[in-house]
Amino acid sequence: MSHSSRQSLTKSNRIVVKVGTSTIMYPNGSINLQRLEKLAFVLSDLKNQGKQVILVSSGAIGVGLARMNLTERPVTIPEQQAIAAIGQTELMNLYSQFFYHYGHQVGQVLLTKDVIDFPVSRENTANTFEQLLIKNVIPIVNENDTVSVEELDHLTRFGDNDTLSALVLEITDSDLLVLLSDIDGFYDKNPTHNEDALLFDTIQEITEDTYALANDAGSRFGTGGMTTKLSAAEQVLALKKQMVLANGEDPTVLFDILKGSHVGTLFTPLKKGDIL
Ligand code: ADP
Repeated sequence: MSHSSRQSLTKSNRIVVKVGTSTIMYPNGSINLQRLEKLAFVLSDLKNQGKQVILVSSGAIGVGLARMNLTERPVTIPEQQAIAAIGQTELMNLYSQFFYHYGHQVGQVLLTKDVIDFPVSRENTANTFEQLLIKNVIPIVNENDTVSVEELDHLTRFGDNDTLSALVLEITDSDLLVLLSDIDGFYDKNPTHNEDALLFDTIQEITEDTYALANDAGSRFGTGGMTTKLSAAEQVLALKKQMVLANGEDPTVLFDILKGSHVGTLFTPLKKGDIL
């Protein structure tokens, strides 16, 4: 169904792509270099096709742990922030090299949730993105873990990159958000625990019943699970924009999505016959 919604994806010009930690790390805690390189290749090729791409990447803590030869995530916040600082540097170093190999420059953008609370910081953020895109640079976004806090009257923490990427879509007025995860899309129940789970091709509305179908994160590193992905989709639909949730196992899935193929789950405000 919704042939027209899938077709409209072929016209997406400005795309935000988010990768979860489980996409860029092996379950054994090491960095999945093949995946990172393939992701850089696909995004670089989309750029060569004339599209504008913004990458939101999780994984700073995972990469930091690998770098420091740690198997367990530290318990204290300052220690986690330190690991994130180490990992973020290493992650950007890897992205920078892989994208450079394919002829593209990247720029790091670290955000906190309060950018939306202050019109001036929001505008500055929007301007930074715009300039990077004008200069043909691929922005790579993550939460600024060093300063993000969650306390009364001072909420600067997103806590998950799913809702952060929906905000990036809004600030940059992008056409499409693609969340790449360790799962093929959104199912009627958690497929990790239910073999008979059915994949949704299209979702046009998110209600409490939809949230009831999502439960706990399935991977060792995943933070948000399906709930934050649905929150992101809700934000995207409220903006009358579209989101696709797909498996990041093979990043070339992005080519298929942008061809209008029926892969992953499309969250769209479009009804059959609507034109975007
Ligand atoms: P990421 O690291 O990519 O952000 P997460 O591990 O946080 O991914 O979230 C994806 C996981 O959510 C899946 O692997 C799956 O175990 C779980 N999940 C829970 N409910 C559902 C559902 N209804 N459909 C698909 N996945 C679900």
